[in-house]
Amino acid sequence: MLHYCVRCVMPDSKPDLRFDESGVCNACRNFERREKADWAARRRELEEILSRYRRHDNHWDCVVPVSGGKDSTYQVLRMLQMEMHPLAVTATTCDESAIGRANIDNLKRLGVDHVQFSPNPNVRAKLNRIGLTQVGDISWPEHVAIFTIPVRTAVAYEVPLIIWGENSQDEYGGPAAAAESRVLDRRWLEEFGGLLGLRVSDLPGMEGLRVNDLVPYSYPTNESLQRVGVTGLFLGYFLPWDGYVNALVAQSHGLRTFDRTVEGSAVNYENLDNHQTGIHDYFKYLKFGFGRASDIASLHVRRGRLSRSDAVDIVLHHDGKFPWTYLGKSIEETLRPLDMSIDEFVSICDRFTNKKLFEIDARGQLVKDYRGNLVRRYRP
Ligand SMILES: [Zn+2]
Repeated sequence: MLHYCVRCVMPDSKPDLRFDESGVCNACRNFERREKADWAARRRELEEILSRYRRHDNHWDCVVPVSGGKDSTYQVLRMLQMEMHPLAVTATTCDESAIGRANIDNLKRLGVDHVQFSPNPNVRAKLNRIGLTQVGDISWPEHVAIFTIPVRTAVAYEVPLIIWGENSQDEYGGPAAAAESRVLDRRWLEEFGGLLGLRVSDLPGMEGLRVNDLVPYSYPTNESLQRVGVTGLFLGYFLPWDGYVNALVAQSHGLRTFDRTVEGSAVNYENLDNHQTGIHDYFKYLKFGFGRASDIASLHVRRGRLSRSDAVDIVLHHDGKFPWTYLGKSIEETLRPLDMSIDEFVSICDRFTNKKLFEIDARGQLVKDYRGNLVRRYRP
Protein backbone atom coordinates (compact mmCIF):
# COMPACT_ATOMS: atom_id res chain seq x y z
CA MET A 1 0.00 0.00 0.00
CA LEU A 2 1.35 3.40 -0.98
CA HIS A 3 0.62 6.55 0.97
CA TYR A 4 1.07 9.94 -0.63
CA CYS A 5 1.97 13.26 0.90
CA VAL A 6 -1.21 15.28 1.48
CA ARG A 7 0.49 18.38 0.14
CA CYS A 8 2.64 17.24 -2.81
CA VAL A 9 2.35 14.00 -4.82
CA MET A 10 5.29 12.00 -3.47
CA PRO A 11 4.70 8.46 -2.15
CA ASP A 12 6.15 7.00 1.04
CA SER A 13 7.94 4.36 -1.05
CA LYS A 14 10.64 6.90 -1.88
CA PRO A 15 13.79 5.99 0.05
CA ASP A 16 14.50 8.40 2.91
CA LEU A 17 11.19 10.23 2.50
CA ARG A 18 9.45 10.48 5.87
CA PHE A 19 5.96 11.65 6.73
CA ASP A 20 4.89 13.46 9.88
CA GLU A 21 1.64 12.90 11.81
CA SER A 22 -0.16 15.39 9.52
CA GLY A 23 0.75 13.33 6.49
CA VAL A 24 3.20 15.90 5.12
CA CYS A 25 6.50 14.67 3.71
CA ASN A 26 9.86 15.96 4.86
CA ALA A 27 10.64 17.46 1.42
CA CYS A 28 7.61 19.72 1.90
CA ARG A 29 8.66 20.46 5.51
CA ASN A 30 12.21 21.24 4.35
CA PHE A 31 10.79 23.68 1.84
CA GLU A 32 8.74 25.40 4.56
CA ARG A 33 11.93 25.86 6.55
CA ARG A 34 13.67 27.28 3.49
CA GLU A 35 10.89 29.82 3.05
CA LYS A 36 11.62 31.10 6.56
CA ALA A 37 15.38 31.21 6.03
CA ASP A 38 17.20 34.52 6.35
CA TRP A 39 18.42 34.65 2.75
CA ALA A 40 20.17 37.98 3.18
CA ALA A 41 22.24 36.49 6.00
CA ARG A 42 22.99 33.36 3.99
CA ARG A 43 24.09 35.45 1.04
CA ARG A 44 26.43 37.42 3.30
CA GLU A 45 27.79 34.13 4.58
CA LEU A 46 28.42 33.04 1.00
CA GLU A 47 30.14 36.35 0.16
CA GLU A 48 32.33 35.91 3.21
CA ILE A 49 33.33 32.36 2.23
CA LEU A 50 34.01 33.35 -1.39
CA SER A 51 36.14 36.30 -0.28
CA ARG A 52 38.41 33.83 1.50
CA TYR A 53 38.89 31.78 -1.67
CA ARG A 54 38.85 34.51 -4.35
CA ARG A 55 42.24 34.84 -6.02
CA HIS A 56 43.93 37.37 -8.29
CA ASP A 57 47.16 35.50 -8.85
CA ASN A 58 46.78 33.61 -12.10
CA HIS A 59 44.82 30.70 -10.63
CA TRP A 60 41.23 29.49 -10.63
CA ASP A 61 39.47 30.05 -7.33
CA CYS A 62 36.68 27.50 -7.58
CA VAL A 63 35.61 24.40 -9.49
CA VAL A 64 32.01 24.32 -10.73
CA PRO A 65 30.83 20.84 -11.75
CA VAL A 66 28.70 21.37 -14.85
CA SER A 67 26.48 19.09 -16.87
CA GLY A 68 25.62 22.05 -19.08
CA GLY A 69 22.02 22.01 -17.86
CA LYS A 70 19.89 24.71 -16.28
CA ASP A 71 21.36 24.41 -12.78
CA SER A 72 25.00 24.37 -13.78
CA THR A 73 24.49 27.27 -16.19
CA TYR A 74 22.95 29.16 -13.26
CA GLN A 75 25.82 28.22 -10.92
CA VAL A 76 28.43 29.49 -13.39
CA LEU A 77 26.49 32.71 -13.97
CA ARG A 78 26.24 33.39 -10.23
CA MET A 79 29.95 32.71 -9.70
CA LEU A 80 30.88 35.07 -12.53
CA GLN A 81 28.52 37.72 -11.13
CA MET A 82 30.22 37.34 -7.76
CA GLU A 83 33.56 37.96 -9.44
CA MET A 84 34.92 34.48 -9.02
CA HIS A 85 37.21 32.88 -11.58
CA PRO A 86 35.75 29.38 -11.94
CA LEU A 87 37.05 26.30 -13.67
CA ALA A 88 34.00 24.49 -15.05
CA VAL A 89 34.29 20.69 -15.07
CA THR A 90 32.13 18.24 -16.97
CA ALA A 91 32.04 14.51 -16.42
CA THR A 92 30.73 13.37 -19.80
CA THR A 93 27.36 11.66 -19.52
CA CYS A 94 27.01 8.00 -20.43
CA ASP A 95 25.15 8.65 -23.69
CA GLU A 96 25.58 12.31 -24.48
CA SER A 97 22.80 13.95 -26.49
CA ALA A 98 23.23 16.61 -29.16
CA ILE A 99 21.26 19.14 -27.12
CA GLY A 100 23.40 18.38 -24.07
CA ARG A 101 26.52 18.98 -26.16
CA ALA A 102 25.13 22.28 -27.45
CA ASN A 103 24.35 23.40 -23.90
CA ILE A 104 27.89 22.68 -22.72
CA ASP A 105 29.23 24.76 -25.61
CA ASN A 106 26.81 27.50 -24.62
CA LEU A 107 27.97 27.35 -21.02
CA LYS A 108 31.59 27.86 -22.08
CA ARG A 109 30.55 31.00 -23.93
CA LEU A 110 29.36 32.51 -20.64
CA GLY A 111 33.07 33.10 -20.29
CA VAL A 112 34.69 30.25 -18.38
CA ASP A 113 37.57 27.86 -18.77
CA HIS A 114 36.22 24.34 -19.05
CA VAL A 115 37.61 20.84 -18.83
CA GLN A 116 35.68 17.77 -19.83
CA PHE A 117 36.63 14.33 -18.59
CA SER A 118 35.34 11.38 -20.59
CA PRO A 119 35.82 7.96 -18.98
CA ASN A 120 36.70 4.95 -21.14
CA PRO A 121 33.47 4.13 -23.02
CA ASN A 122 34.11 0.38 -23.00
CA VAL A 123 34.47 0.31 -19.22
CA ARG A 124 31.47 2.56 -18.88
CA ALA A 125 29.27 0.26 -20.99
CA LYS A 126 30.21 -2.62 -18.69
CA LEU A 127 29.35 -0.49 -15.66
CA ASN A 128 26.00 0.48 -17.21
CA ARG A 129 25.27 -3.19 -17.66
CA ILE A 130 26.38 -4.13 -14.14
CA GLY A 131 24.41 -1.23 -12.67
CA LEU A 132 21.27 -2.17 -14.56
CA THR A 133 21.40 -5.92 -13.91
CA GLN A 134 22.63 -5.82 -10.29
CA VAL A 135 21.01 -2.77 -8.71
CA GLY A 136 18.49 -1.71 -11.36
CA ASP A 137 20.24 1.54 -12.20
CA ILE A 138 21.80 2.02 -15.63
CA SER A 139 23.08 5.42 -14.47
CA TRP A 140 25.12 4.03 -11.57
CA PRO A 141 28.50 4.91 -13.15
CA GLU A 142 27.33 8.40 -14.07
CA HIS A 143 26.02 9.13 -10.61
CA VAL A 144 29.36 8.11 -9.15
CA ALA A 145 31.44 9.99 -11.74
CA ILE A 146 29.58 13.30 -11.43
CA PHE A 147 30.87 13.39 -7.84
CA THR A 148 34.30 11.82 -8.17
CA ILE A 149 35.52 13.57 -11.34
CA PRO A 150 35.03 17.18 -10.18
CA VAL A 151 36.73 16.32 -6.88
CA ARG A 152 39.61 14.63 -8.71
CA THR A 153 39.88 17.70 -10.96
CA ALA A 154 39.94 20.02 -7.94
CA VAL A 155 42.83 18.01 -6.54
CA ALA A 156 44.65 17.82 -9.88
CA TYR A 157 44.41 21.57 -10.53
CA GLU A 158 44.83 22.44 -6.85
CA VAL A 159 41.58 24.39 -6.58
CA PRO A 160 40.22 23.90 -3.06
CA LEU A 161 36.64 25.18 -3.40
CA ILE A 162 33.94 23.23 -5.26
CA ILE A 163 30.57 24.91 -5.89
CA TRP A 164 27.85 22.25 -6.11
CA GLY A 165 24.22 23.08 -6.90
CA GLU A 166 21.42 21.89 -4.68
CA ASN A 167 21.58 19.38 -1.91
CA SER A 168 19.31 16.66 -3.32
CA GLN A 169 18.53 15.52 0.20
CA ASP A 170 16.98 18.90 0.88
CA GLU A 171 14.71 19.43 -2.10
CA TYR A 172 13.78 15.79 -2.53
CA GLY A 173 13.67 14.80 1.12
CA GLY A 174 16.17 13.01 3.29
CA PRO A 175 17.33 12.66 6.87
CA ALA A 176 17.12 16.04 8.61
CA ALA A 177 20.82 16.22 9.33
CA ALA A 178 21.67 15.67 5.67
CA ALA A 179 19.08 18.18 4.49
CA GLU A 180 20.61 20.93 6.60
CA SER A 181 24.07 20.18 5.31
CA ARG A 182 25.86 22.79 3.26
CA VAL A 183 28.96 20.77 2.50
CA LEU A 184 29.42 17.76 0.29
CA ASP A 185 32.09 15.39 1.46
CA ARG A 186 32.99 11.76 1.09
CA ARG A 187 30.50 10.76 3.76
CA TRP A 188 27.62 12.53 1.96
CA LEU A 189 28.63 10.90 -1.30
CA GLU A 190 28.77 7.42 0.13
CA GLU A 191 25.46 7.83 1.90
CA PHE A 192 23.38 9.72 -0.68
CA GLY A 193 25.32 9.83 -3.93
CA GLY A 194 23.26 7.11 -5.58
CA LEU A 195 25.56 4.19 -4.86
CA LEU A 196 22.69 1.80 -3.95
CA GLY A 197 24.91 -0.57 -2.04
CA LEU A 198 27.12 -1.30 -5.06
CA ARG A 199 30.58 -0.06 -4.15
CA VAL A 200 33.40 0.70 -6.53
CA SER A 201 35.57 -1.69 -4.53
CA ASP A 202 33.14 -4.53 -5.39
CA LEU A 203 33.73 -4.19 -9.13
CA PRO A 204 37.18 -5.57 -10.00
CA GLY A 205 36.72 -9.04 -11.43
CA MET A 206 33.19 -8.40 -12.72
CA GLU A 207 32.92 -8.44 -16.54
CA GLY A 208 36.72 -8.53 -16.67
CA LEU A 209 37.12 -5.15 -14.95
CA ARG A 210 40.47 -4.34 -13.38
CA VAL A 211 41.25 -1.92 -10.55
CA ASN A 212 42.94 0.37 -13.11
CA ASP A 213 39.73 0.67 -15.10
CA LEU A 214 37.99 2.33 -12.20
CA VAL A 215 40.18 5.37 -11.54
CA PRO A 216 37.52 7.90 -12.66
CA TYR A 217 34.99 6.32 -10.29
CA SER A 218 37.25 6.44 -7.27
CA TYR A 219 37.33 9.28 -4.79
CA PRO A 220 40.77 10.89 -4.32
CA THR A 221 42.74 9.85 -1.25
CA ASN A 222 42.20 11.67 2.03
CA GLU A 223 45.82 12.77 1.92
CA SER A 224 45.43 14.51 -1.45
CA LEU A 225 42.16 16.12 -0.37
CA GLN A 226 43.82 17.48 2.75
CA ARG A 227 46.88 18.67 0.86
CA VAL A 228 44.74 20.84 -1.44
CA GLY A 229 42.17 21.58 1.27
CA VAL A 230 39.23 20.57 -0.90
CA THR A 231 35.83 21.59 0.42
CA GLY A 232 32.48 21.56 -1.36
CA LEU A 233 29.53 23.91 -0.87
CA PHE A 234 25.91 23.52 -1.92
CA LEU A 235 24.97 26.83 -3.57
CA GLY A 236 21.33 25.90 -2.91
CA TYR A 237 21.96 26.40 0.80
CA PHE A 238 23.04 30.01 0.32
CA LEU A 239 20.72 31.19 -2.44
CA PRO A 240 16.99 30.48 -2.88
CA TRP A 241 16.93 27.50 -5.24
CA ASP A 242 14.21 26.94 -7.82
CA GLY A 243 14.95 24.74 -10.83
CA TYR A 244 12.32 26.50 -12.91
CA VAL A 245 13.78 29.92 -12.16
CA ASN A 246 17.23 28.56 -12.94
CA ALA A 247 15.88 27.33 -16.28
CA LEU A 248 14.42 30.74 -17.12
CA VAL A 249 17.67 32.48 -16.20
CA ALA A 250 19.74 29.91 -18.12
CA GLN A 251 17.50 30.21 -21.20
CA SER A 252 18.02 33.95 -21.26
CA HIS A 253 21.72 33.07 -21.48
CA GLY A 254 21.38 30.66 -24.37
CA LEU A 255 20.34 27.34 -22.79
CA ARG A 256 18.43 25.26 -25.33
CA THR A 257 15.37 23.27 -24.31
CA PHE A 258 13.87 20.19 -25.94
CA ASP A 259 11.29 20.85 -28.67
CA ARG A 260 8.58 19.01 -26.71
CA THR A 261 7.97 17.54 -23.25
CA VAL A 262 10.80 15.14 -22.46
CA GLU A 263 9.57 11.53 -22.45
CA GLY A 264 8.63 10.43 -18.90
CA SER A 265 9.07 13.97 -17.62
CA ALA A 266 6.56 16.80 -17.37
CA VAL A 267 8.74 19.61 -18.74
CA ASN A 268 11.21 20.35 -21.53
CA TYR A 269 13.94 22.18 -19.65
CA GLU A 270 15.86 19.57 -17.65
CA ASN A 271 17.67 16.23 -17.93
CA LEU A 272 18.55 16.90 -21.56
CA ASP A 273 22.10 15.58 -21.61
CA ASN A 274 21.90 11.78 -21.54
CA HIS A 275 19.79 9.37 -23.58
CA GLN A 276 19.96 6.77 -20.78
CA THR A 277 18.06 8.97 -18.33
CA GLY A 278 14.71 7.63 -19.54
CA ILE A 279 15.75 4.14 -18.46
CA HIS A 280 17.05 5.43 -15.13
CA ASP A 281 13.76 7.19 -14.39
CA TYR A 282 11.69 4.21 -15.52
CA PHE A 283 13.42 1.95 -13.02
CA LYS A 284 12.58 4.40 -10.25
CA TYR A 285 8.96 3.94 -11.27
CA LEU A 286 9.24 0.14 -11.31
CA LYS A 287 10.85 0.03 -7.86
CA PHE A 288 8.97 2.79 -6.07
CA GLY A 289 5.90 3.62 -8.14
CA PHE A 290 6.79 7.17 -9.07
CA GLY A 291 8.73 8.76 -11.91
CA ARG A 292 10.31 12.07 -12.83
CA ALA A 293 6.96 13.78 -13.42
CA SER A 294 6.10 13.22 -9.72
CA ASP A 295 9.32 14.92 -8.65
CA ILE A 296 8.77 17.88 -10.96
CA ALA A 297 5.08 18.30 -10.18
CA SER A 298 5.90 18.23 -6.45
CA LEU A 299 8.50 20.98 -6.84
CA HIS A 300 5.90 23.19 -8.50
CA VAL A 301 3.21 22.36 -5.92
CA ARG A 302 5.54 23.37 -3.06
CA ARG A 303 6.20 26.70 -4.73
CA GLY A 304 2.50 27.39 -5.21
CA ARG A 305 2.58 27.20 -9.00
CA LEU A 306 0.44 24.07 -9.31
CA SER A 307 -2.54 22.77 -7.37
CA ARG A 308 -2.30 19.26 -5.99
CA SER A 309 -5.15 18.03 -8.22
CA ASP A 310 -3.48 19.38 -11.37
CA ALA A 311 -0.26 17.76 -10.21
CA VAL A 312 -2.08 14.42 -9.91
CA ASP A 313 -3.32 14.76 -13.51
CA ILE A 314 0.21 15.53 -14.69
CA VAL A 315 1.62 12.51 -12.85
CA LEU A 316 -1.02 10.14 -14.22
CA HIS A 317 -0.42 11.42 -17.73
CA HIS A 318 3.39 11.32 -17.82
CA ASP A 319 4.79 8.96 -15.19
CA GLY A 320 5.84 5.40 -15.82
CA LYS A 321 5.56 5.02 -19.58
CA PHE A 322 7.82 2.32 -21.00
CA PRO A 323 10.89 4.26 -22.22
CA TRP A 324 10.64 3.49 -25.96
CA THR A 325 12.53 6.70 -26.69
CA TYR A 326 14.36 9.35 -24.71
CA LEU A 327 15.22 12.72 -26.24
CA GLY A 328 14.11 11.14 -29.49
CA LYS A 329 16.58 8.22 -29.45
CA SER A 330 15.13 4.71 -29.57
CA ILE A 331 15.72 2.29 -26.73
CA GLU A 332 17.27 -0.24 -29.14
CA GLU A 333 19.95 2.31 -30.01
CA THR A 334 20.47 3.24 -26.37
CA LEU A 335 20.90 -0.40 -25.31
CA ARG A 336 23.26 -1.32 -28.17
CA PRO A 337 26.52 -0.35 -26.41
CA LEU A 338 25.41 -2.52 -23.48
CA ASP A 339 25.00 -5.44 -25.90
CA MET A 340 21.45 -5.82 -24.63
CA SER A 341 18.26 -6.70 -26.51
CA ILE A 342 14.80 -5.36 -25.69
CA ASP A 343 13.77 -8.83 -24.48
CA GLU A 344 16.63 -8.97 -22.03
CA PHE A 345 15.86 -5.42 -20.95
CA VAL A 346 12.20 -6.26 -20.31
CA SER A 347 13.15 -9.29 -18.24
CA ILE A 348 15.42 -7.08 -16.10
CA CYS A 349 12.57 -4.59 -15.75
CA ASP A 350 10.26 -7.36 -14.53
CA ARG A 351 12.84 -8.57 -12.05
CA PHE A 352 13.14 -5.11 -10.47
CA THR A 353 9.40 -4.32 -10.56
CA ASN A 354 7.79 -4.11 -7.13
CA LYS A 355 4.88 -6.49 -7.75
CA LYS A 356 2.88 -4.97 -4.89
CA LEU A 357 2.59 -1.67 -6.76
CA PHE A 358 1.22 -2.93 -10.08
CA GLU A 359 -1.66 -5.11 -11.30
CA ILE A 360 -0.91 -8.79 -11.81
CA ASP A 361 -3.13 -11.32 -13.55
CA ALA A 362 -4.44 -14.67 -12.26
CA ARG A 363 -1.19 -16.38 -13.26
CA GLY A 364 0.86 -13.87 -11.29
CA GLN A 365 2.15 -12.08 -14.40
CA LEU A 366 2.41 -8.30 -14.58
CA VAL A 367 -0.44 -6.78 -16.58
CA LYS A 368 0.82 -4.63 -19.47
CA ASP A 369 -0.88 -2.78 -22.28
CA TYR A 370 0.13 -3.10 -25.93
CA ARG A 371 2.86 -0.47 -25.39
CA GLY A 372 4.38 -2.45 -22.52
CA ASN A 373 3.07 -0.07 -19.85
CA LEU A 374 2.21 -1.41 -16.41
CA VAL A 375 -1.05 -0.70 -14.60
CA ARG A 376 -0.56 1.14 -11.34
CA ARG A 377 -2.48 -0.03 -8.27
CA TYR A 378 -2.15 3.24 -6.38
CA ARG A 379 -2.44 6.85 -7.37
CA PRO A 380 -1.77 10.09 -5.54
ZN1 LIG B 1 5.20 16.52 0.25
